[in-house]
Amino acid sequence: MFEKQIEIPSAEEILCERPLPKDLAAVKAELHAIAKDVIAGKSDKLLVIVGPCSAHEAAPVLEYVRRLGRLNERVKEKLVLIPRIYTNKPRTKGVGYKGMFSQPDPENRENILKGIYAIRDLHIKAIAESGLSAADEMLYPENYAYVEDLLTYIAVGARSSENQLHRLVSSGIELPVGIKNPTGGSIPVTLNSVYAAQSPQVFKYHNWQVATGGNEYAHVVLRGRVDHYGNDIPNYHYETVMQVFEGYQTSGELKNPAVVIDSNHSNSKKQFRQQIRIVEEVLQNRTYDADFKRIVKGFMIESFLEEGNQKHDIVFGKSITDPCLGWADTERLIMDIAEKA
Ligand code: PEP
Ligand code: MN
Repeated sequence: MFEKQIEIPSAEEILCERPLPKDLAAVKAELHAIAKDVIAGKSDKLLVIVGPCSAHEAAPVLEYVRRLGRLNERVKEKLVLIPRIYTNKPRTKGVGYKGMFSQPDPENRENILKGIYAIRDLHIKAIAESGLSAADEMLYPENYAYVEDLLTYIAVGARSSENQLHRLVSSGIELPVGIKNPTGGSIPVTLNSVYAAQSPQVFKYHNWQVATGGNEYAHVVLRGRVDHYGNDIPNYHYETVMQVFEGYQTSGELKNPAVVIDSNHSNSKKQFRQQIRIVEEVLQNRTYDADFKRIVKGFMIESFLEEGNQKHDIVFGKSITDPCLGWADTERLIMDIAEKA
């Protein structure tokens, strides 16, 4: 049974109603070009995709990105800061808060039409107020069309990376797309997804048969894995990263070998402070091996104004999904990454 609840206008109509102002489009274009250069090895900067697990409310996210914009002035020679503004949330058991896209008010029922306006408004304001354009997760490939003009980076989540449509749509995206290892952790499966996303494809998308050119900026994100017993097993260590390096080398077909380390999720066992140690360890490994240094292109860090998380939106700027580093630790960590980059 499907009950039709709200008719949703096409992406073209929504973009006309909520256009990205030209000056902000120029900011975004410059940032996504730099991010591509990092993935392609044309720039030695490191990507730092940083922000809350989910953007559940505009005000604290805007405060967060304003701080990030100021911090960017101090680190931009070394780092490309990309705020995480994740408006779609996959859930391990498929139920619960699914992000601003579905629930613009997390304490209220789903309203996807309001959600689409809310996420466009948030992304546009964030660029205006921080000078940075964001990363979002492409949880529903069909919805990419509502935000495609706004972002610097797209993530394909661990529960989506083996899915056909995610791979095909990624092949037409003109931004770096970070494809997470699936929760089971298979490196060959992750590299197969990168291969699919880097290849030209033909498929049905928004009532059209479309052809894509392949996205050579699709790359691997290591987020840790979950074993058969439900235990989190990290995969940010030297050995796994070098397995990915070997996989890129032996494929002979994959372009732009690149790994981004997600320091939370199954890498930290969601012990959010461990993110500091994990990032430091990866930075240390970069000094040890030139191949490791070449393939690690950056970090994905979960961070918000307040550390930890909460079940309901009571404390301003505290995550209602995965636990995050607080601002002071984040600032110190980003300064440290810049120093060691
Ligand atoms: C996330 O980035 O918050 C997330 C849900 O990641 P993953 O897909 O790795 O679980
Ligand atoms: Mn998360």
